[in-house]
Amino acid sequence: MIENSIQHACNISEAGRLAALHRYNVLDTAPEESFDRITRVAKSALQMPIVLVSLVDADRQWFKSRQGLDTIETPRDVSFCTHTIKRNEPMMIKDALKDERFRHSPLVTDEPNIRFYLGIPLTSPDGYNIGALCAIDRKPRDLLSVEIELLRDLARLVVDELELRQIAITDSLTGAQTRRSFELDVEKEMDRSRRYNRPASLIVLDLDHFKRVNDANGHAAGDAVLQAVVSRCKASLRSNDVLGRLGGEEFAILLPETDLEQALQVAEKLRVRTSEAPIQFGNRNIQVTASFGVTELDKHDAKVETPLDRADAALYGAKNDGRDRVSHLMAGRPVSQVA
Ligand code: GH3
Ligand code: MG
Ligand code: MG
Repeated sequence: MIENSIQHACNISEAGRLAALHRYNVLDTAPEESFDRITRVAKSALQMPIVLVSLVDADRQWFKSRQGLDTIETPRDVSFCTHTIKRNEPMMIKDALKDERFRHSPLVTDEPNIRFYLGIPLTSPDGYNIGALCAIDRKPRDLLSVEIELLRDLARLVVDELELRQIAITDSLTGAQTRRSFELDVEKEMDRSRRYNRPASLIVLDLDHFKRVNDANGHAAGDAVLQAVVSRCKASLRSNDVLGRLGGEEFAILLPETDLEQALQVAEKLRVRTSEAPIQFGNRNIQVTASFGVTELDKHDAKVETPLDRADAALYGAKNDGRDRVSHLMAGRPVSQVA
């Protein structure tokens, strides 16, 4: 019986597991058709009233896709999936009322009145179980091994989809977000900050005389410098900040809940961190600086290009003023008023 199958070794470091989950940047994102298609197929093929892609965060399970359930998340401690992710095999509960672990769970005694549960761990390529694809019925059931096999294949598709999604939003050289994905995040933040009347700011930065770095040290050294600059920036940013690569040696940072004055402080910190120590590549020590343009999102900004162009104009001012510095531009001011 699968319920009693021997637990195969799985990667059980909870910190590593959470890091693997958070790397996908998927928690609290909108539903996506590619995941909904998978849960729909499982629902109709297995004739299940409820099918979920459940991602197990530190203290909640959050559903990336759900069929037959309105709830977006539940506390982790009552969830079935938190048991599924402790193993590398499917977990099947034929009748939750007969299972000591679950018979008193509010998910069994109350809505959605789970009786049957089959969960397949969603295992990342580095071996962490980040969640489960689960099929749920309100009456006791059993499944054939071919049906379990089908759900297993669909669980693999969920992980493939997460991987592809991640590749599409991540710049492969630096690990920063791609320009397209960054712009989508700025768009979302423009909506959010307008709706709640909260501040948010943008920083655009460009490495100074980077062509010389390549010319003097080679392209591979240039690549290493780009990676080092991104990791220095990331080390100084908060987890809600978003770092994107706009192209070449130009990056942008979205700072939610940050007004212009605070954003200028962040930019200054990043400027100092970028240049305070040379970047080592083989036996070379490569000294770089960067110029920064800062602006605050404005409620009159019509589209994502508006604040980005403003930050870019401020950056242009920093370059003109001699590089290795931070400039800013406020909405509604002419470009010539770069600080
Ligand atoms: P400025 O201070 O005015 O920004 O000067 P710059 O030399 O940094 O600017 P320019 O636009 O003339 O040159 C940018 C250089 O960045 C040229 C290009 O080869 C290099 N570059 C762009 N993308 C990459 C990359 O992925 N890897 C490496 N190694 N170099 C890159
Ligand atoms: Mg440059
Ligand atoms: Mg440039």
